[in-house]
Amino acid sequence: MTNSERYFEQSKELIPGGVNSPVRAFGSVSATPVFIERGDGAYLFDVDGNQYIDYVGSWGPLILGHNNPQIFEAIVAAAKKGVSFGAATQSELTMARLLTELTGIEMVRMVNSGTEAVMSALRVARGFTQKDKIIKFEGCYHGHSDSMLTKAGSGALTYSNPDSAGVTKAVARDTLVARYNDIQSVVELFAQNQNEIAAIIVEPVAANMGVVLPSLEFLKTLRTLCDENNCLLIFDEVITGFRLGIGGAQAFFGVQADLVTYGKIIGAGMPVGAYGGRRDIMACVSPVGAVYQAGTLSGNPVAMAAGITQLTILREHPEIYTHIETLCTTLADGLRSIIKEYNIEATVANIGSLCCLFLGKERYTKFFKGMLARGIYLAPSQYEALFIGFAHTAEDIEKTITSAKACLEEIK
Ligand code: PLP
Repeated sequence: MTNSERYFEQSKELIPGGVNSPVRAFGSVSATPVFIERGDGAYLFDVDGNQYIDYVGSWGPLILGHNNPQIFEAIVAAAKKGVSFGAATQSELTMARLLTELTGIEMVRMVNSGTEAVMSALRVARGFTQKDKIIKFEGCYHGHSDSMLTKAGSGALTYSNPDSAGVTKAVARDTLVARYNDIQSVVELFAQNQNEIAAIIVEPVAANMGVVLPSLEFLKTLRTLCDENNCLLIFDEVITGFRLGIGGAQAFFGVQADLVTYGKIIGAGMPVGAYGGRRDIMACVSPVGAVYQAGTLSGNPVAMAAGITQLTILREHPEIYTHIETLCTTLADGLRSIIKEYNIEATVANIGSLCCLFLGKERYTKFFKGMLARGIYLAPSQYEALFIGFAHTAEDIEKTITSAKACLEEIK
């Protein structure tokens, strides 16, 4: 028995499924989770002494890799001054300046996770418009708040329960579900729910059902439909924010949302989220307005220090984006040529530094296990993206392509 297997057996006695977030259980790839001891740059090291090239990157935030020295120093320096005050700090102002300058949102509120950011943005949209219903898209994941667990992607899709137990019918009724990239399905919902829809929430690149690129027409028409129907457009940029480029999906596609949600990437791995948008809308938030939203740990100084450092590095070094996008294209093209050579029915999607090889569940299980055995750590779910970071090297990508070729040869 490996150390990971032993720890997993013990964890299952004390933690549901042995994990603190479902996808980590490796259930959908019929494997035992690897217990991680430490990370360094592009690599993970497990409790059994194995080393992996990491393409999960804590599910996105570690765009500069594990243990980036500048981020680490900023965390230590902040922690030395105290880890939490529950009071206003200058670092929150610095973070708000950065976020508004980089993304074009006018005001922002810090929270502690992407889930919280989305939940709060939806409440603000309802408070502002005085309407109840929200349109989301099938397969898009927006965290685990009640109203967003209808036809959700990611872990919910992985475990075939996109609709969660424990969500009341009343809440589910206010969540309308349309199809991604299908404007007609949105138009129909507007027709059926006239003057009732507060907001459309969308992942500008759907990254929780594989990686699905939006058509520009789709995003632009969502903008128009929102304007015509007096409803708000919410971009959930938990994955795309500061990853598709420093201005996120809004800048990448040239479509301005009314509210935007951000998550883990602005904390560089510390627990963080944020939502923001137009000044008149954000003026609804307590203590100025009537929409209540709060958090003891929101704007936590250690998390702010980490996030400010990461965002500042990204802003000052645009070549980071060039590097990670080039690596991602090389990886995607390499995978494409392998599936072509072996005549495997599969799809490779990539945009920016996000990539996905969609093989279907059974073949992905074999692929995942083969890659893990070769020292490549992929998400234990077919529906997740590979995240390329600045710490990855051309050699890492080369090794990954070679390993993928060996794995795909076995399952072709
Ligand atoms: N929104 C999107 C697009 C996500 O991908 C995620 C999580 O990956 C969330 C929201 C929820 O974020 P968190 O897990 O920090 O609550």
